[in-house]
Amino acid sequence: EQDPLPPELEVKSSAPERKAFSVKVDRAADVQEARLGLPVVGEEQKIMEAIYNNPIVVIWGATGSGKTTQVPQFLYEAGFGSPDSPNPGMIGVTQPRRVAAVSMAKRVGDELGGAGEQVSYQIRFDSSVSSKTAIKFMTDGILIREIAHDFALLKYSVIIIDEAHERTANTDILIGMVSRIVDLRAAMSREDVKTKPLKLVIMSATLRITDFLANPNLFRTGTPPLIQAEGRQYPVTTHFARRTQRDYLEEAFEKVRKGHRKLPPGGFLVFLTGQNEITALAKRLHEALASPHGGQSNGHKVWISANEAPLETEDIEFGNVNDDFEEDEETDGDPFENEDDQDFEVEDSTPASSKVHILPLYSQLQTKDQLRVFEPLPENSRMIVLATNVAETSLTIPGIRYVFDCGRAKEKKYDRLTGVQSFEVGWISKASASQRAGRAGRTGPGHCYRLYSSAVYERDFEEHAEPEILRMPVEGVVLQLKSMDLQHVVNFPFPTPPDRQSLVKAEKLLTYLGAVSTEGKITSVGRQLSNYPLSPRLSKILTIGHQHGCMPYTIALVASLASLEMFIPENQLNLSSPTQPDFYSIEDRLAEEARTQRKSAYNHAHHLLSRHSSTSDALKGLTALCAYAHAPSKDDFCKDMFLSPKALSEASNLCSQLMNIVRNNYPTLLTPSISLKLPSPSKTQVAALQQFTAAAFIDQIAILASASPSPPELPRKPTRAIDVPYLPLFPINTKRRADTDIVDVAVFIHPSSILAHVATKDLPTYIIYSNLQRGTPATVEGAKRPRTRMHALTAVTAKQVAGLAKGT
Ligand code: ADP
Ligand code: MG
Repeated sequence: EQDPLPPELEVKSSAPERKAFSVKVDRAADVQEARLGLPVVGEEQKIMEAIYNNPIVVIWGATGSGKTTQVPQFLYEAGFGSPDSPNPGMIGVTQPRRVAAVSMAKRVGDELGGAGEQVSYQIRFDSSVSSKTAIKFMTDGILIREIAHDFALLKYSVIIIDEAHERTANTDILIGMVSRIVDLRAAMSREDVKTKPLKLVIMSATLRITDFLANPNLFRTGTPPLIQAEGRQYPVTTHFARRTQRDYLEEAFEKVRKGHRKLPPGGFLVFLTGQNEITALAKRLHEALASPHGGQSNGHKVWISANEAPLETEDIEFGNVNDDFEEDEETDGDPFENEDDQDFEVEDSTPASSKVHILPLYSQLQTKDQLRVFEPLPENSRMIVLATNVAETSLTIPGIRYVFDCGRAKEKKYDRLTGVQSFEVGWISKASASQRAGRAGRTGPGHCYRLYSSAVYERDFEEHAEPEILRMPVEGVVLQLKSMDLQHVVNFPFPTPPDRQSLVKAEKLLTYLGAVSTEGKITSVGRQLSNYPLSPRLSKILTIGHQHGCMPYTIALVASLASLEMFIPENQLNLSSPTQPDFYSIEDRLAEEARTQRKSAYNHAHHLLSRHSSTSDALKGLTALCAYAHAPSKDDFCKDMFLSPKALSEASNLCSQLMNIVRNNYPTLLTPSISLKLPSPSKTQVAALQQFTAAAFIDQIAILASASPSPPELPRKPTRAIDVPYLPLFPINTKRRADTDIVDVAVFIHPSSILAHVATKDLPTYIIYSNLQRGTPATVEGAKRPRTRMHALTAVTAKQVAGLAKGT
């Protein structure tokens, strides 16, 4: 079954090359000096020799040791990427995160001085690549798509796969693919002198990659050399909390607030799990730290959120550096565990002026706002960065001395058997905790305050997190590989192979979509599907969505389905209610009124966006996107309609991209001038769009439990739509027993769905869902068991179901 490897691909080791070419670079004096302090720079010769003598090299060094910024420069100076050198192909560097691709390109460009314009980035919908580009930073997804069009990656002379320790699915797949392309290019270069071999450099911040280095199926030319750049990390003192509080947000707030008053100068980096937490904490910190403590307003700015204008705030004071804290450091080391500290009075100490700059950092933030953490701050101010995992390894934020780690992260979980996905806040791994702590020791000795106890750390933290490829549906991966004519996907050299069952399930779905033949070969439909940067199901909608003149609507529909969080959920509106409803002060009443108004505005917006159908979330997304295209001011529109500006702008970018693909491949389906400023779809078109959606998800259908052949007995009649049980066509509980509770076998409408607002008697019998999600298991005893919720796409009628089953 093994894919046959032509004998000429069997490369034992490539002949050593000589450094015959070099490019001169003029760096600014300060850049030059800073570089000399980086451990990776000390290893330049060793690294370059290894790269010359081996097709694949692995570099391991702690975060901040200079891998990302320096290794591409070594290669550049050695002539890689220069048109007249022996290795004219570009230097490609992949990153798991967009923000890292952009900011690292900028940094390396700055360091290279005059040669800076040769450094570019490319992320989805945004690129600075030009004919001059020699070093190209990109997300791993971009390179995977490039491979689909240029299997030998002829534009490149070297590929650097960075942050390999994160083990994202894309990175893992790239490692497998590029290792083969290295073999292929070696063979090609022996046939044709004009084709140069390709080098692969894998870089990692931890040793989490050693498990696959010796895998002969992956690296056929033998285990690649591992070069270590010992990080010169300053010591970081780690402080565990005595107790682990469940409300870690409150805990973070208290510690940061006190810490700001007590700790000597130095940036704060607070690790939280998501955007909501970050926004909430930013608001609270802003209120707390901007409240007058004898200071007076002088108009310094605190940025609390990307969507709000900078707010005015007062100067903040903190204790001088000789306060109790310094003693704590020597004694027990945690300023927060000394009870006396609670009475610490700022006014009693010599005040030093400090402004706070609160900067959020999470992936949904617009790129320009993400990059704010790199802007220099005025003297005497403290930066407080509130970040998700983004700041764990890919970005080195200058000036961080104190890390506050909540110890948790939001992780996508995936049940391989049932396909149920969940976003759960769970403990991070020990490896992640140590990475987070390490962020405090870049510029000098630092401190990490862990908001959890050492007992919890020892007991509940895994050594490493599971590779992502084991935690996701793999039909997209399988289709991608098949489109490269790899028939037996099980033979692909995955660093960690997904289990066979997932692969079989994926193949079944692809067969059902018509993308793969029963022999496992890609079909012409499959080739069509792989043209789109979408999951196979969404691509499928595009291939059938031209009927009834629907193509432009179908494109908008798919783009809105592909972008996750377009609608800002009601519970994020911050409709804080007055605390004492019985004794309304004027402010309370005003607040209450504002709350009511906002709520009714929200409902109104919701209603407007649902105007094409009250039973289809898919069409609501479509309406939002088309209305957005018509809106004269996008920002106002998003604000009024409670939509996420970033999600909307990305969805419309995706629309343009899809329109281009459709136009290039199927010119008859779209008129050249078409845009998203579409008239309202007709009734027939609305029905057709619902049908297209259903066709791609027909295996994900749930039937109203009370309408099923053997309706279950319910303890009481549900009064809300979100409590009404549906039974999925394919059971979610594989350990199903006769006496299983309804919660174990049924699925329920997600509160964010349009169907959540339908009266229970009007609920549709059949619902098509895009995915199932299980809530976080309750940790409180006696609490309700979490329900499995459907992200509903659309209701369908019995007639439609019958039609779909027949394949019409
Ligand atoms: P690694 O990839 O090994 O984690 P990097 O190459 O990203 O390390 O960073 C090396 C050093 O360069 C960091 O320690 C930091 O001091 C500096 N640095 C990186 N990016 C920036 C930036 N945008 N602004 C200022 N300094 C930076
Ligand atoms: Mg790096």
